[in-house]
Amino acid sequence: MKVAIYPGSFDPITYGHLDIIKRSARMFDKLIIGVLNNCSKTALFTSSERVTMIQSVTKSIPNVEVKSFDGLLIDFAHKNQADIIVRGLRAITDFEYELQLSQTNKVIAPNIDTVFLTTNLKYSYLSSSIVKEIARYQGDISAFVDESVALLVKEKIAKKHQEG
Ligand code: ADP
Repeated sequence: MKVAIYPGSFDPITYGHLDIIKRSARMFDKLIIGVLNNCSKTALFTSSERVTMIQSVTKSIPNVEVKSFDGLLIDFAHKNQADIIVRGLRAITDFEYELQLSQTNKVIAPNIDTVFLTTNLKYSYLSSSIVKEIARYQGDISAFVDESVALLVKEKIAKKHQEG
């Protein structure tokens, strides 16, 4: 059974991520979306909120599982018997970092390979940070994220505003 991991922050999940998920779910028997549980203060959503959100927007894809993790990606992959890591490439700016990451992982875990899917041109400009930036100024993000996600982003930003 071919098990792949698609890791990321997904803060929040965008149509760009969803496109990579749909395409890679067709390639492998099981795709585990690994939500990085980073304690960075800049994260809008907690990792468990992100997991729930992703589960809801991927519920129609039967071979997708969503889990959060912290620590090394390679350890998470081993624990889940996955030997493939999926990453998306948008622009040349992604390339350098992704190359370094995949080569480092290859040294630590030679049995694990990283595969790259190039972005759907429609979403090549799209990132979670851009979505958050637009939402912070009450802009319309419905072209970038699922309707349910857009609602949660709006609620969360309004709550953060109130908290000051
Ligand atoms: P990270 O913090 O690991 O970069 P992200 O959630 O930003 O996490 O992205 C996870 C993965 O999805 C990365 O491989 C990233 O390049 C890819 N990705 C993000 N946005 C897009 C997009 N619009 N099109 C294709 N791939 C994307």
